[in-house]
Amino acid sequence: MKELKNIRYWIFDLDNTLYPPTTNLFDKIDRLMCRFIEENLNVTSQEALKIKDTYFHQHGTTLNGLMKNHKVDAEKFLEFVHDIDYSILQKDSKLSEEIAKLPGEKIIFTNGSRKHAQKVIQQLGIENNFDKIFDIVDSKFIPKPQIDPYHDLISTYDIDTKNSIFFEDIAKNLLTAHELGMKTAWIENDDDYCKQGYDGKHIHYRVKNLRSFLNQINESIN
Ligand SMILES: [Mg+2]
Repeated sequence: MKELKNIRYWIFDLDNTLYPPTTNLFDKIDRLMCRFIEENLNVTSQEALKIKDTYFHQHGTTLNGLMKNHKVDAEKFLEFVHDIDYSILQKDSKLSEEIAKLPGEKIIFTNGSRKHAQKVIQQLGIENNFDKIFDIVDSKFIPKPQIDPYHDLISTYDIDTKNSIFFEDIAKNLLTAHELGMKTAWIENDDDYCKQGYDGKHIHYRVKNLRSFLNQINESIN
């Protein structure tokens, strides 16, 4: 992986990328999204589930669909759905060590909120590895994989795309990164939605385990 020696911008998605889906943390958020829809749109739990999934697929995030179709208050939604127990996430000192060794800037690029990202990285013990978090508010509520937030991210941090790599579990979010000239690394998983748009061509690396993958990079570039 010597070809990654010029990388100076290490960009990471948050959920199901910096921690594995086996923690089920995101499922808890999903359930709260359903409850929020139930309570605020006055629908049954089955209808809420359907609305959540439909908006997620049509608008990139459930929140985006709720804002467009029901003028839902974004802050209220984000506050509600992230009211979860983060203690199920374990400290990951090995991950922290590997991220620390990577040369250059480390940035989180998430469709979630800053507060959620901060809680996650604190719990994982990797909060000192990241001083830049680009969240859904910074993205003006336009989610990945739409190109606008990528442009905003790039200009905000003056990112040289040729010397950057993006790690993500949702394959289609890497398509935009690839189009913009970034290297891409897909966190392999079996989720149908995450695999959508995966044709291999826009994915430069497949990652089974983030820790070991970063370790391999560090071994070959340092
Ligand atoms: Mg993710």
